Amino acid sequence: MANGVIIDDTTLRDGEQTAGVVFSRREKIAIARMLDSIGVQEIECGIPAMGDEERAGIMALVNLGLNARLITWNRALVPEIEASIACGVQAVDISLSVSDQMILNKLRKSRETVKEQLKVALGFAKSHNLYVSVGGEDASRADVSFLVELMEITRSMGGDRFRFCDTLGVMDPFGMYDRIEFLRKAVPEVEIEVHTHNDLGMATANAIAGIRAGAKFVNTTINGLGERAGNAALEEVVMGLKHACGIETGIDTHRFREMSLFVAKASHRPLPVSKPVVGERVFAHESGLHADGVIKDPHNYEGFDPAEVGLTRSIVVGKHSGTGGLIERYRSMGVFIDRKRAELLLEKTRALSCSRKRDLTNCELMAIYIENDQMPKAA
Ligand SMILES: [Zn+2]
Repeated sequence: MANGVIIDDTTLRDGEQTAGVVFSRREKIAIARMLDSIGVQEIECGIPAMGDEERAGIMALVNLGLNARLITWNRALVPEIEASIACGVQAVDISLSVSDQMILNKLRKSRETVKEQLKVALGFAKSHNLYVSVGGEDASRADVSFLVELMEITRSMGGDRFRFCDTLGVMDPFGMYDRIEFLRKAVPEVEIEVHTHNDLGMATANAIAGIRAGAKFVNTTINGLGERAGNAALEEVVMGLKHACGIETGIDTHRFREMSLFVAKASHRPLPVSKPVVGERVFAHESGLHADGVIKDPHNYEGFDPAEVGLTRSIVVGKHSGTGGLIERYRSMGVFIDRKRAELLLEKTRALSCSRKRDLTNCELMAIYIENDQMPKAA
């Protein structure tokens, strides 16, 4: 099933907006190239209003001539849209705070002024032939009837889509599904984009719920980088759509691990070993039952093939190992042992694992093997 989902990856905007994260020009170019090479259709690449350095970075990306469409983030203000035009991009997100909380307590304005601001900014952008995503900041806490009003304005003025932002990450997938389904029906002419945050650990689930409810566009970041707890992770959304929902995005997933490592390094945000989809250890099997099952047939304990995301399977030897896993691990080291020997060695490997409170390295396993191989034979 392919439903034409379009990924708008915002690693270079919301991702870099993570407190303390800065990408160099070279890193931005490398990330954009990687995203483009795997088939990501749209890249949110920065905020031109931030200044000359940011604009030069965006222009460098424009000059790459990528297949992916580059889109910039702007407040719904004419000078900011002008700054985007000056960078040479053809698409803009124009953002407005849409919840009463933010309209009254942050902007200190009214819904009416927000609507007027949208009309002016959208009119300006469309008169310059830009592709426009109207960004509803804090849409998840906004009055839904006000969202419909903004989407109606978007439709009537030729805006291309509406970005529904769960800016604070306070939604759950069921609420997201209902909200997006309602908005799709209310203004079917305007496509919806979902922008989700992970404050309650539901960014990926909410993004997928939004898509299931009819959103065509989804914001992601590599490793789920982003403000506070982060955004929906590119690798999780793509693999979740594929394996949990049967929805193909057309993205080549084989470089996910490589891309995650690159972004982890560039952002100084190390990749947790158990990070879903791309963590080093998400295909590591230790317990006797699981290792044995995977050795017999990986489908027993793996939801998808690790090679799909550029990972490899590993059999870990530790406290919970069984003889099957131990034999397989030694075999991968070029050492062949029978079950009887495995039983003897298992006692030793378990004891060492317990005393060191971790799994064993190849060196330790080899030492145990040699030690016990040299034990005097019974007379
Ligand atoms: Zn965000």
